[in-house]
Amino acid sequence: MTDPLQFVKPAVRQIAAYTLAARQAPVKINQNENPYDLPEALKRRVLDKALRRAWSRYPDFDPRELLEKLAAFSGWRADGILAGNGSNELIEALLLVTVGAGTRVVIPEPTFTLYALLTTVLGGEAVRVPLTPDLQYDPDAIARARRRAGAALTVVCSPNNPTGGVLAAADIRRLCEDEGGLVVIDEAYHEFAGESVVPLLATHPNLVVLRTFSKAMGLAGLRVGYLLAAPELVREINKGRLPYNLNFFSQMAALAALEGFAELEDRVRQLTDERDRMLALVKDLPGVRAHPSRANFFLIELQGADPRAVFEGLYRRGVLVRDVTSYPMLSRCLRISVGSPEENDAFLHALGSALAETRGDVAAGRA
Ligand code: PMP
Repeated sequence: MTDPLQFVKPAVRQIAAYTLAARQAPVKINQNENPYDLPEALKRRVLDKALRRAWSRYPDFDPRELLEKLAAFSGWRADGILAGNGSNELIEALLLVTVGAGTRVVIPEPTFTLYALLTTVLGGEAVRVPLTPDLQYDPDAIARARRRAGAALTVVCSPNNPTGGVLAAADIRRLCEDEGGLVVIDEAYHEFAGESVVPLLATHPNLVVLRTFSKAMGLAGLRVGYLLAAPELVREINKGRLPYNLNFFSQMAALAALEGFAELEDRVRQLTDERDRMLALVKDLPGVRAHPSRANFFLIELQGADPRAVFEGLYRRGVLVRDVTSYPMLSRCLRISVGSPEENDAFLHALGSALAETRGDVAAGRA
Protein backbone atom coordinates (compact mmCIF):
# COMPACT_ATOMS: atom_id res chain seq x y z
CA MET A 1 0.00 0.00 0.00
CA THR A 2 1.45 3.38 -0.91
CA ASP A 3 1.34 5.98 1.80
CA PRO A 4 -1.23 8.60 0.69
CA LEU A 5 0.60 11.23 2.73
CA GLN A 6 3.63 10.97 0.43
CA PHE A 7 1.66 13.11 -2.04
CA VAL A 8 1.38 15.99 0.40
CA LYS A 9 4.06 18.66 -0.01
CA PRO A 10 6.90 18.05 2.49
CA ALA A 11 6.76 21.72 3.60
CA VAL A 12 3.11 21.21 4.54
CA ARG A 13 3.73 18.00 6.48
CA GLN A 14 6.38 19.77 8.54
CA ILE A 15 4.13 22.54 9.87
CA ALA A 16 1.46 22.51 12.53
CA ALA A 17 -2.13 23.34 11.56
CA TYR A 18 -3.83 26.58 12.62
CA THR A 19 -5.92 25.23 15.48
CA LEU A 20 -7.80 26.36 18.54
CA ALA A 21 -8.75 24.01 21.39
CA ALA A 22 -12.54 23.77 21.51
CA ARG A 23 -13.11 24.98 25.05
CA GLN A 24 -16.18 26.84 26.23
CA ALA A 25 -16.61 28.97 29.34
CA PRO A 26 -19.15 31.44 30.79
CA VAL A 27 -16.60 34.24 30.27
CA LYS A 28 -15.09 33.69 26.84
CA ILE A 29 -12.34 36.23 26.23
CA ASN A 30 -10.01 34.13 24.10
CA GLN A 31 -10.69 35.13 20.46
CA ASN A 32 -10.71 38.94 20.36
CA GLU A 33 -14.41 38.85 19.52
CA ASN A 34 -16.77 41.69 20.20
CA PRO A 35 -18.67 40.95 23.44
CA TYR A 36 -21.60 42.96 22.09
CA ASP A 37 -23.77 41.28 19.51
CA LEU A 38 -25.10 43.25 16.55
CA PRO A 39 -28.10 45.27 17.84
CA GLU A 40 -31.33 43.27 17.52
CA ALA A 41 -33.03 45.88 15.29
CA LEU A 42 -30.22 45.52 12.75
CA LYS A 43 -30.39 41.73 12.91
CA ARG A 44 -34.15 41.82 12.26
CA ARG A 45 -33.68 44.11 9.28
CA VAL A 46 -31.23 41.61 7.78
CA LEU A 47 -33.54 38.67 8.48
CA ASP A 48 -36.50 40.45 6.82
CA LYS A 49 -34.43 41.26 3.77
CA ALA A 50 -33.13 37.69 3.56
CA LEU A 51 -36.68 36.31 3.77
CA ARG A 52 -37.69 38.30 0.72
CA ARG A 53 -34.73 37.08 -1.34
CA ALA A 54 -34.59 33.76 -3.24
CA TRP A 55 -32.11 31.50 -1.46
CA SER A 56 -31.93 29.34 -4.57
CA ARG A 57 -30.09 32.09 -6.45
CA TYR A 58 -26.36 32.75 -6.29
CA PRO A 59 -25.20 35.93 -4.61
CA ASP A 60 -23.98 38.78 -6.87
CA PHE A 61 -20.84 37.87 -8.78
CA ASP A 62 -19.37 41.16 -7.58
CA PRO A 63 -21.01 42.47 -4.40
CA ARG A 64 -21.41 45.90 -6.01
CA GLU A 65 -23.59 47.54 -3.33
CA LEU A 66 -21.29 46.39 -0.53
CA LEU A 67 -18.18 47.55 -2.39
CA GLU A 68 -19.73 50.98 -2.97
CA LYS A 69 -20.65 51.30 0.72
CA LEU A 70 -17.20 50.11 1.77
CA ALA A 71 -15.70 52.75 -0.48
CA ALA A 72 -17.77 55.49 1.18
CA PHE A 73 -16.96 54.06 4.62
CA SER A 74 -13.22 53.70 4.13
CA GLY A 75 -12.52 56.67 1.87
CA TRP A 76 -11.03 54.52 -0.89
CA ARG A 77 -12.31 53.74 -4.41
CA ALA A 78 -14.73 50.85 -4.97
CA ASP A 79 -12.65 49.36 -7.81
CA GLY A 80 -9.76 49.12 -5.33
CA ILE A 81 -11.72 46.94 -2.87
CA LEU A 82 -12.35 43.19 -2.64
CA ALA A 83 -14.79 41.65 -0.17
CA GLY A 84 -14.24 38.17 1.18
CA ASN A 85 -15.38 35.42 3.47
CA GLY A 86 -13.48 36.87 6.41
CA SER A 87 -10.19 38.66 5.91
CA ASN A 88 -8.60 35.20 6.17
CA GLU A 89 -9.88 34.42 2.71
CA LEU A 90 -8.39 37.59 1.26
CA ILE A 91 -5.06 36.90 2.95
CA GLU A 92 -5.19 33.57 1.13
CA ALA A 93 -6.11 35.16 -2.23
CA LEU A 94 -3.32 37.71 -1.84
CA LEU A 95 -0.70 35.07 -1.03
CA LEU A 96 -1.99 32.71 -3.75
CA VAL A 97 -1.24 35.26 -6.44
CA THR A 98 2.08 36.48 -5.03
CA VAL A 99 3.82 33.53 -3.33
CA GLY A 100 5.36 30.57 -5.14
CA ALA A 101 8.41 28.37 -4.61
CA GLY A 102 11.10 30.35 -2.82
CA THR A 103 9.18 33.66 -2.58
CA ARG A 104 10.29 35.52 0.51
CA VAL A 105 7.77 37.13 2.82
CA VAL A 106 9.01 39.29 5.69
CA ILE A 107 6.91 38.72 8.80
CA PRO A 108 7.66 40.32 12.17
CA GLU A 109 7.09 37.84 14.98
CA PRO A 110 5.22 37.05 17.12
CA THR A 111 2.15 37.86 15.05
CA PHE A 112 -1.01 36.35 13.56
CA THR A 113 0.20 32.90 12.48
CA LEU A 114 -1.82 32.50 9.28
CA TYR A 115 0.63 34.55 7.19
CA ALA A 116 3.63 32.30 7.82
CA LEU A 117 1.48 29.18 7.59
CA LEU A 118 0.07 29.99 4.14
CA THR A 119 3.44 31.24 2.90
CA THR A 120 4.93 27.85 3.79
CA VAL A 121 2.01 25.91 2.27
CA LEU A 122 2.57 27.80 -0.99
CA GLY A 123 6.27 26.95 -1.04
CA GLY A 124 7.47 30.40 0.01
CA GLU A 125 9.81 31.33 2.80
CA ALA A 126 8.74 33.30 5.87
CA VAL A 127 11.59 35.64 6.85
CA ARG A 128 10.91 36.29 10.52
CA VAL A 129 11.93 39.54 12.20
CA PRO A 130 11.68 39.55 16.00
CA LEU A 131 9.89 42.36 17.83
CA THR A 132 11.93 44.39 20.32
CA PRO A 133 12.24 42.99 23.88
CA ASP A 134 9.33 45.31 24.78
CA LEU A 135 7.28 43.55 22.08
CA GLN A 136 7.18 46.58 19.79
CA TYR A 137 7.90 46.72 16.07
CA ASP A 138 11.46 47.50 15.06
CA PRO A 139 11.01 49.49 11.82
CA ASP A 140 14.72 49.54 10.97
CA ALA A 141 15.05 45.78 11.42
CA ILE A 142 11.98 45.24 9.21
CA ALA A 143 13.37 47.53 6.49
CA ARG A 144 16.79 45.82 6.66
CA ALA A 145 15.28 42.30 6.48
CA ARG A 146 13.18 43.34 3.53
CA ARG A 147 16.11 44.65 1.56
CA ARG A 148 18.39 41.77 2.47
CA ALA A 149 15.78 39.11 1.59
CA GLY A 150 14.62 40.77 -1.62
CA ALA A 151 11.14 40.19 -0.19
CA ALA A 152 8.08 40.12 -2.44
CA LEU A 153 5.87 41.00 0.53
CA THR A 154 6.25 42.49 3.97
CA VAL A 155 3.34 41.82 6.31
CA VAL A 156 2.65 43.98 9.35
CA CYS A 157 -0.44 43.63 11.53
CA SER A 158 -1.12 47.03 13.03
CA PRO A 159 -2.28 46.74 15.76
CA ASN A 160 -0.45 43.46 16.07
CA ASN A 161 -2.13 40.29 17.28
CA PRO A 162 -1.26 39.10 19.94
CA THR A 163 0.93 41.93 21.27
CA GLY A 164 -1.26 45.00 20.63
CA GLY A 165 1.45 47.37 19.33
CA VAL A 166 1.24 49.44 16.15
CA LEU A 167 3.70 50.41 13.45
CA ALA A 168 3.55 54.21 13.04
CA ALA A 169 2.12 55.52 9.76
CA ALA A 170 5.41 57.34 9.06
CA ASP A 171 7.30 54.04 9.29
CA ILE A 172 4.77 52.33 7.01
CA ARG A 173 5.14 55.16 4.52
CA ARG A 174 8.91 54.75 4.63
CA LEU A 175 8.60 51.02 3.99
CA CYS A 176 6.36 51.69 0.98
CA GLU A 177 8.81 54.23 -0.41
CA ASP A 178 11.82 51.99 0.08
CA GLU A 179 12.42 49.70 -2.89
CA GLY A 180 11.25 46.19 -2.29
CA GLY A 181 7.94 44.49 -2.69
CA LEU A 182 4.40 44.91 -1.50
CA VAL A 183 3.66 46.24 1.97
CA VAL A 184 0.68 44.46 3.51
CA ILE A 185 -0.87 46.17 6.52
CA ASP A 186 -3.44 44.08 8.37
CA GLU A 187 -5.81 46.51 10.08
CA ALA A 188 -8.10 43.92 11.69
CA TYR A 189 -8.08 46.00 14.90
CA HIS A 190 -7.67 49.51 13.50
CA GLU A 191 -10.94 50.86 14.96
CA PHE A 192 -9.59 50.30 18.48
CA ALA A 193 -6.34 52.12 17.66
CA GLY A 194 -8.16 54.97 15.93
CA GLU A 195 -5.66 55.09 13.07
CA SER A 196 -5.39 53.72 9.56
CA VAL A 197 -3.04 53.87 6.57
CA VAL A 198 -5.86 53.82 4.00
CA PRO A 199 -5.04 57.48 3.11
CA LEU A 200 -1.60 56.28 1.94
CA LEU A 201 -3.18 54.10 -0.76
CA ALA A 202 -3.65 57.07 -3.09
CA THR A 203 0.08 57.67 -3.31
CA HIS A 204 1.53 54.19 -2.70
CA PRO A 205 0.55 51.56 -5.29
CA ASN A 206 2.54 48.84 -3.50
CA LEU A 207 0.41 49.11 -0.32
CA VAL A 208 -2.28 46.53 0.51
CA VAL A 209 -4.61 47.01 3.50
CA LEU A 210 -6.72 44.24 5.01
CA ARG A 211 -9.71 44.80 7.29
CA THR A 212 -12.41 42.69 8.91
CA PHE A 213 -15.99 42.85 10.20
CA SER A 214 -15.10 40.26 12.87
CA LYS A 215 -13.89 42.60 15.60
CA ALA A 216 -15.21 46.17 16.01
CA MET A 217 -18.10 45.49 13.61
CA GLY A 218 -19.31 42.50 15.66
CA LEU A 219 -19.84 40.05 12.79
CA ALA A 220 -17.28 37.29 13.40
CA GLY A 221 -19.96 34.60 12.95
CA LEU A 222 -20.81 35.76 9.43
CA ARG A 223 -17.25 35.98 8.06
CA VAL A 224 -16.78 39.26 6.21
CA GLY A 225 -13.49 40.97 5.45
CA TYR A 226 -12.18 43.36 2.81
CA LEU A 227 -8.94 44.24 1.09
CA LEU A 228 -7.99 47.67 -0.22
CA ALA A 229 -5.27 48.37 -2.80
CA ALA A 230 -4.61 50.01 -6.15
CA PRO A 231 -7.23 48.86 -8.72
CA GLU A 232 -4.55 47.24 -10.97
CA LEU A 233 -3.34 45.15 -8.05
CA VAL A 234 -6.89 44.34 -6.90
CA ARG A 235 -7.69 42.99 -10.37
CA GLU A 236 -4.81 40.52 -10.03
CA ILE A 237 -5.60 39.51 -6.43
CA ASN A 238 -9.20 38.95 -7.56
CA LYS A 239 -7.95 36.08 -9.72
CA GLY A 240 -7.10 34.18 -6.52
CA ARG A 241 -10.56 34.70 -5.02
CA LEU A 242 -13.18 31.97 -5.38
CA PRO A 243 -16.33 32.93 -7.32
CA TYR A 244 -19.36 33.80 -5.15
CA ASN A 245 -17.14 33.76 -2.07
CA LEU A 246 -19.36 36.04 -0.02
CA ASN A 247 -22.87 34.70 0.56
CA PHE A 248 -25.83 37.08 0.25
CA PHE A 249 -26.72 36.87 3.95
CA SER A 250 -23.28 38.03 5.05
CA GLN A 251 -23.38 40.81 2.45
CA MET A 252 -26.68 42.03 3.89
CA ALA A 253 -25.37 41.85 7.44
CA ALA A 254 -22.24 43.80 6.50
CA LEU A 255 -24.39 46.51 4.91
CA ALA A 256 -26.51 46.66 8.07
CA ALA A 257 -23.40 46.95 10.25
CA LEU A 258 -22.16 49.85 8.09
CA GLU A 259 -25.56 51.57 8.41
CA GLY A 260 -25.50 51.09 12.18
CA PHE A 261 -21.89 52.13 12.57
CA ALA A 262 -22.61 55.05 14.92
CA GLU A 263 -23.82 52.59 17.56
CA LEU A 264 -20.94 50.20 16.94
CA GLU A 265 -18.51 53.08 17.28
CA ASP A 266 -19.86 53.84 20.78
CA ARG A 267 -19.11 50.27 21.72
CA VAL A 268 -15.58 50.56 20.37
CA ARG A 269 -15.09 53.50 22.74
CA GLN A 270 -16.50 51.47 25.65
CA LEU A 271 -14.13 48.62 24.83
CA THR A 272 -11.04 50.82 24.66
CA ASP A 273 -12.06 52.49 27.96
CA GLU A 274 -12.46 49.04 29.48
CA ARG A 275 -9.10 47.95 28.09
CA ASP A 276 -7.41 50.91 29.76
CA ARG A 277 -9.24 50.28 33.04
CA MET A 278 -8.14 46.63 33.03
CA LEU A 279 -4.55 47.49 32.15
CA ALA A 280 -4.38 49.94 35.04
CA LEU A 281 -5.75 47.38 37.49
CA VAL A 282 -3.64 44.45 36.28
CA LYS A 283 -0.52 46.62 36.49
CA ASP A 284 -0.83 46.75 40.28
CA LEU A 285 -0.87 42.99 40.71
CA PRO A 286 2.46 41.69 42.01
CA GLY A 287 4.33 39.46 39.55
CA VAL A 288 2.22 40.51 36.58
CA ARG A 289 3.34 42.76 33.75
CA ALA A 290 0.60 44.09 31.51
CA HIS A 291 1.75 45.10 28.04
CA PRO A 292 0.23 48.30 26.65
CA SER A 293 -2.14 47.70 23.75
CA ARG A 294 -3.97 49.69 21.07
CA ALA A 295 -6.37 46.82 20.29
CA ASN A 296 -9.31 45.08 22.04
CA PHE A 297 -6.95 42.68 23.83
CA PHE A 298 -3.70 42.79 25.74
CA LEU A 299 -0.97 40.50 26.99
CA ILE A 300 -0.20 39.74 30.59
CA GLU A 301 3.25 38.43 31.37
CA LEU A 302 3.42 36.27 34.47
CA GLN A 303 6.77 36.85 36.06
CA GLY A 304 6.28 34.87 39.24
CA ALA A 305 3.76 32.19 38.27
CA ASP A 306 3.48 29.40 35.70
CA PRO A 307 1.32 30.90 32.93
CA ARG A 308 -0.22 27.54 32.05
CA ALA A 309 -1.24 26.99 35.68
CA VAL A 310 -2.78 30.47 35.72
CA PHE A 311 -4.59 29.70 32.43
CA GLU A 312 -6.08 26.54 33.96
CA GLY A 313 -6.86 28.37 37.20
CA LEU A 314 -8.80 31.00 35.25
CA TYR A 315 -10.60 28.29 33.28
CA ARG A 316 -11.65 26.48 36.44
CA ARG A 317 -13.17 29.79 37.54
CA GLY A 318 -15.17 30.07 34.31
CA VAL A 319 -12.83 32.40 32.40
CA LEU A 320 -11.32 31.31 29.09
CA VAL A 321 -8.35 33.37 27.84
CA ARG A 322 -5.78 32.59 25.14
CA ASP A 323 -2.67 30.64 26.02
CA VAL A 324 0.03 32.14 23.78
CA THR A 325 2.98 30.53 25.56
CA SER A 326 3.97 28.63 22.40
CA TYR A 327 4.53 31.88 20.43
CA PRO A 328 8.11 33.13 20.10
CA MET A 329 9.02 35.56 22.91
CA LEU A 330 5.74 34.93 24.74
CA SER A 331 6.52 31.87 26.84
CA ARG A 332 5.25 33.65 30.00
CA CYS A 333 2.22 35.34 28.44
CA LEU A 334 -1.54 34.98 28.22
CA ARG A 335 -3.70 37.05 25.88
CA ILE A 336 -6.83 38.64 27.31
CA SER A 337 -9.61 39.95 25.04
CA VAL A 338 -11.60 42.87 26.43
CA GLY A 339 -15.15 41.80 27.23
CA SER A 340 -18.15 43.54 28.76
CA PRO A 341 -17.52 45.30 32.12
CA GLU A 342 -19.06 42.30 33.94
CA GLU A 343 -16.86 39.82 32.07
CA ASN A 344 -13.81 41.95 32.73
CA ASP A 345 -14.59 42.13 36.45
CA ALA A 346 -15.03 38.34 36.49
CA PHE A 347 -11.62 38.00 34.83
CA LEU A 348 -9.92 40.38 37.28
CA HIS A 349 -11.43 38.56 40.23
CA ALA A 350 -10.51 35.13 38.82
CA LEU A 351 -6.96 36.31 38.06
CA GLY A 352 -6.47 37.44 41.67
CA SER A 353 -7.51 34.05 43.03
CA ALA A 354 -5.72 32.01 40.33
CA LEU A 355 -2.50 33.87 41.17
CA ALA A 356 -3.01 33.33 44.90
CA GLU A 357 -3.59 29.65 44.22
CA THR A 358 -0.41 29.23 42.14
CA ARG A 359 1.57 31.13 44.80
CA GLY A 360 0.11 28.71 47.35
CA ASP A 361 1.27 25.82 45.16
CA VAL A 362 4.77 27.29 44.99
CA ALA A 363 4.86 27.84 48.79
CA ALA A 364 3.65 24.28 49.38
CA GLY A 365 6.18 22.90 46.90
CA ARG A 366 3.51 21.63 44.49
CA ALA A 367 4.44 23.73 41.45
N1 PMP B 1 -5.83 39.40 10.86
C1 PMP B 1 -5.56 39.44 12.17
C2 PMP B 1 -4.40 40.24 12.65
C3 PMP B 1 -6.37 38.74 13.06
O1 PMP B 1 -6.10 38.75 14.37
C4 PMP B 1 -7.47 37.99 12.57
C5 PMP B 1 -8.40 37.21 13.46
N2 PMP B 1 -7.87 36.55 14.49
C6 PMP B 1 -7.69 37.98 11.19
C7 PMP B 1 -6.86 38.71 10.36
C8 PMP B 1 -8.78 37.16 10.56
O2 PMP B 1 -10.00 37.75 10.69
P1 PMP B 1 -11.29 37.27 9.89
O3 PMP B 1 -12.26 36.86 10.94
O4 PMP B 1 -11.73 38.48 9.13
O5 PMP B 1 -10.92 36.15 8.98
